[in-house]
Amino acid sequence: MSDLMEMLIRRGFLWQSFEIYGGMAGFFDYAPLGNNLRRKIENVWREFFVINERVAEIDTPLIGVEEVFIASGHATSFVDTAIECQKCGRVFRADHYVKEKLNLEVDPSVGAIKEVLETYQLKCECGGSFGEPFPMNLMFSTKIGAGKGKNAYLRPETAQGIFINFRRLSNYFREKLPFGVAQIGRAFRNEISPRQGVIRLREFNQAELEFFVHPAEKKHPNFPEVSGDVLTLVDKFDKVHRITLDEAVKRGIIANQVLAYFIGKTRRFLLAIGIKDEKLRFRQHKDDERAHYATDCWDAEALTSYGWIEIVGIADRTDYDLSRHAKFSGEDLSIFIPYEKPVVVKKKKAIPKMNVLGPAFRSKAKKIAEALEKLEVSSDEVELEIDGERIRLTREFFDVKEIEEEVAGEKVVPHVIEPSFGLDRITYTVLEHSFDKDMVEGEERRVLRLKRRIAPIEVAVLPLLSREPFTGKALEIAGMLKKAGFYTDYDESGSIGRRYRRYDEIGTPLCITVDHQTFEDGSVTIRDRDTTGQVRVKIENLVGILRELLAGERSIEEFGEKFR
Ligand code: AMP
Repeated sequence: MSDLMEMLIRRGFLWQSFEIYGGMAGFFDYAPLGNNLRRKIENVWREFFVINERVAEIDTPLIGVEEVFIASGHATSFVDTAIECQKCGRVFRADHYVKEKLNLEVDPSVGAIKEVLETYQLKCECGGSFGEPFPMNLMFSTKIGAGKGKNAYLRPETAQGIFINFRRLSNYFREKLPFGVAQIGRAFRNEISPRQGVIRLREFNQAELEFFVHPAEKKHPNFPEVSGDVLTLVDKFDKVHRITLDEAVKRGIIANQVLAYFIGKTRRFLLAIGIKDEKLRFRQHKDDERAHYATDCWDAEALTSYGWIEIVGIADRTDYDLSRHAKFSGEDLSIFIPYEKPVVVKKKKAIPKMNVLGPAFRSKAKKIAEALEKLEVSSDEVELEIDGERIRLTREFFDVKEIEEEVAGEKVVPHVIEPSFGLDRITYTVLEHSFDKDMVEGEERRVLRLKRRIAPIEVAVLPLLSREPFTGKALEIAGMLKKAGFYTDYDESGSIGRRYRRYDEIGTPLCITVDHQTFEDGSVTIRDRDTTGQVRVKIENLVGILRELLAGERSIEEFGEKFR
């Protein structure tokens, strides 16, 4: 186990789920510190993608009726290919197994996997042979209700809960594009034999944003805010670019400005929570790699001890989801976009000739005439369907009149750009990128250099000595800081140096120490985790100073007199 993983378990960030019953791959518990860290990362995400955007957040059920996933395509297309050893019975995800054993990127279809198994005579780790590769749907299925019940699935992504509410959502946004809808919550995928610790989970946390735009105007009003940012882009031909987003859109590397905007915004968010820029890249999906619904897709990838891993997927899902749900549910999921000024269009209308239709069609004539009146004609012949019967009519049955009509707008099915964040992978990457070792007073120290605002414990109050009056005063200060809303800890056990190390290890950015001078002039020291420097400040100023320090990255020296 890595030093980091050992620390995360020992100090209470992540625990293996169901540990006392032997554990289960693909499930992790968020222990107290990890839970706090992920929640704080979620709140920074909200700041970036909800509060400061034209975006609303909703919360929909984790279980979905099967109709949703038939329409979305997940019931048929959300599959991976599995291979099962005929000797030891172990099952592997075929494309991952081939990559691991042969270092080959393969098409994950059943046919292609079969060919690879035969060509390379690929065997199981135990030496046994594999049976026929078979597809496995990654959704967990369940039933709602008693008896036969109703077929349902645990959602494999939060996005569908947004699409199926589109009519109400567009109404909420007064039918005005662009707008976005976000959802943060659990998603479930019955991954085949996950073997990458916390990276590939069967139950995980997503933060997804569906940003709806006019299909002909894939522009974002805030693009200028990020257009000058320089990024590392790996395009679908594996060519690496270090360029601005503006340039990437102009050169057609990124398909449109909305995608580029969210790529830029994603990068800024990831940097704000402490992911290292030099260990971050955006990689475009190759043509045969994209999900069944996407036209262009970029993954934010972070370099970790597992190699480059996908932490965010940013896809142009076009009108795929809305069109499918419109088709399967029968609901109109388009939006009416008024023109700036109504436009006048010329139309050719059919005028039924009743004196000819009547004798020819008798009882059907009236229905035919009504259908004709609704028609716009473009040739001398029209075809109608009346009570299931197709009827062709030539010009002998109708006249044509040209009319002018005012059209106020058009109906469009919006396209959607989706940044989809895997919060567990992001939280883990933040931990890896923050984990550091250095030397302090001749001793090696482990320190988690988390950004101050996401630290699970923001401030620790420590009495210099574990007796009165130091302990009483420290407890009083800790109480005051808790009331002011800080995540505060109190610790009196062990030497002060050891206690500082304990808080360094879990990333607590600031420690407050009550010492002898506290009782002389009402001051305490603030110690900074990263520099180990200390300053003295008055207790009455503490809350305001901590608030400023925790909101940003300013140095403690700006707030007090240097101590020692
Ligand atoms: P996707 O819908 O597959 O693009 O997934 C969106 C994001 O969810 C990815 O970028 C990952 O960060 C995360 N994710 C996907 N599958 C898993 C998994 N099995 N375990 C943990 N995170 C995942």
